[in-house]
Amino acid sequence: MMKNIDAYPFKGKKVLVRVDFNVPLDDNFRITDTTRIDAAIPTLRRILDDGGSVILMSHLGRPKEGPEEKFSLKYLISYLGEKTGARIMFADDCIGEQALALSKNLRPGEILLLENLRFHKAETKGDETFASKLAALGDVYMNDAFGTAHRAHASTAVIAKFFPEDKMFGYIMENEVASIDKVLKDTKRPFTAILGGAKVSGKIEIINNLLDKVDNLLIGGGMMFTFIHALGGHVGQSMVEDELFEVALHTLEGAKQMGVKIYLPTDTIIADRFENDAHRKLSDVNDIPDNWMGLDIGPETIKVYNKVIGESATILWNGPMGVFEMDNFAEGTKAIAEAVAAATGKGAYSLIGGGDSVAAINKYGLKDKVSYVSTGGGAMLEYIEGKELPGVVAIKA
Ligand code: AMP
Repeated sequence: MMKNIDAYPFKGKKVLVRVDFNVPLDDNFRITDTTRIDAAIPTLRRILDDGGSVILMSHLGRPKEGPEEKFSLKYLISYLGEKTGARIMFADDCIGEQALALSKNLRPGEILLLENLRFHKAETKGDETFASKLAALGDVYMNDAFGTAHRAHASTAVIAKFFPEDKMFGYIMENEVASIDKVLKDTKRPFTAILGGAKVSGKIEIINNLLDKVDNLLIGGGMMFTFIHALGGHVGQSMVEDELFEVALHTLEGAKQMGVKIYLPTDTIIADRFENDAHRKLSDVNDIPDNWMGLDIGPETIKVYNKVIGESATILWNGPMGVFEMDNFAEGTKAIAEAVAAATGKGAYSLIGGGDSVAAINKYGLKDKVSYVSTGGGAMLEYIEGKELPGVVAIKA
């Protein structure tokens, strides 16, 4: 049976916590965005302060065949020590003799960080033997990795069966599920979804599944050009997925039938190459010169989107409006982030999800001005689609 983190007595227990410490590291192995680690601290504090010890399991990146230096979790040790004030032990392999010995000697208030789970292929395969070896390290299983809750991996789902009486969500999982339920089940209208990012292909399912839930859908980012082109616009060198024209048109038609207003940009900032210092100009979205590409939404679009956002009571935002990593094409994303923050200030409930939208919200210092920043983009969107997340089901079952 599922237990509750606030009620559970952790004293003397070794708690296996699946976290999402999949943080970006630069070439010198420095963490460039600590959001995901910071988010897990209250969960870890709860266990440590109650006299328990913590065994951390995570993945980082996408290692192909076994261990790879650039994906080692050992580069997180010092930051983790700093943030928790706890003594951090590290196991070079997430299973095996050393991990077992370290776990056995772990004392209350201490943390054992296990090396990257995905150095074993068995993790993503959801291998039961591998899960049982992880399970052998602790007395309690806690899942606080919402970012991987949509995967049926060994550490996110399979392992739960070894802890039928001692499994629970951490605070992140609890909050994520509650915040999405607030958007979907307790929706105040109008409900506006803002979708951006690179490609339609990754998001078409989500768009289609949101159609019976939202009142407005604002489209931006690279994916807007597939829609514009499918409608007969001239988009030059902009990112386009030809094979999705039919699908895009079908989506627009579906929206019409369901009474959802889909907004597409009318103007765009174009560039003559994919670089921050490329030549730039403003263009009609339907009339981009042959050798130019659209890399951001334009001021007229921003104005319209701002108005819709300002009149919304529930807002869901996933994906940047342009190539915001380049400062010269970040204006649209920044303006939308500010509009969402302003609407929140006036009482709207806003949920931000997806690595890049989260990065944008952080970049513009607006994290505390929106209602909830989700740490798991893919998982959040699948949950919004109404899919059952294996990581959630395994705990609840
Ligand atoms: P996603 O992971 O699908 O949310 O895509 C995020 C990425 O989309 C970011 O790295 C952006 O730079 C990129 N992106 C946004 N707008 C455009 C655009 N107009 N052309 C190309 N890439 C874009």
